Amino acid sequence: MEFESQRELDAQRVRAEALGEPGKRRFRLLVVIDGDTHVAWMEKQQLQALGLALEQMLEQIPHPDVESAAPPASQSVEFDQNTRSQFRVGRMELGYDERSDRLVIIAHDINQDDDDEEEDEEAPGTEDEPALTFRLTREQAREISAEAAAVVAAGRPRCTMCGAPIGPEPHVCPQQNGHLPHELESTSPDDE
Ligand SMILES: [Zn+2]
Repeated sequence: MEFESQRELDAQRVRAEALGEPGKRRFRLLVVIDGDTHVAWMEKQQLQALGLALEQMLEQIPHPDVESAAPPASQSVEFDQNTRSQFRVGRMELGYDERSDRLVIIAHDINQDDDDEEEDEEAPGTEDEPALTFRLTREQAREISAEAAAVVAAGRPRCTMCGAPIGPEPHVCPQQNGHLPHELESTSPDDE
């Protein structure tokens, strides 16, 4: 997997959150890149899977030899709630850029997803164009992972195997079969 290493992809600010009443909550990830806010709407299970995958990746990647570069200043950056850059997340990929010590999230628009179940007639060549690609520091990844867990949990009991919150829906435990509900590819440094 190749990553662009432009700094423009660095997330200046990120937040995982839920909106709405319990039972009708909607989940999303807010990201500010280069001053622009992007809103990635997700299913709860997607946000949960993302949080767990980030957590796993943080455990797997080696500690950098040198102090990694500081993230872009985020204090003054506000989320633009009315941004037009909003989409529903379909497929997600996760990666790690060793050179910059950044975790990389690639999110595809569900409406542009190459889904086997539905025979969408799409223009060729559009299916692999991600809707959003951004890079996180380890600290930002930890924040997102913690926020995702907290938001998804909302006071629910946790699975004793994996620590994930258990809700009314069936729990797919990654500790038991390694299954994630959505494709999350990780490139570990061991991959050749
Ligand atoms: Zn579990």
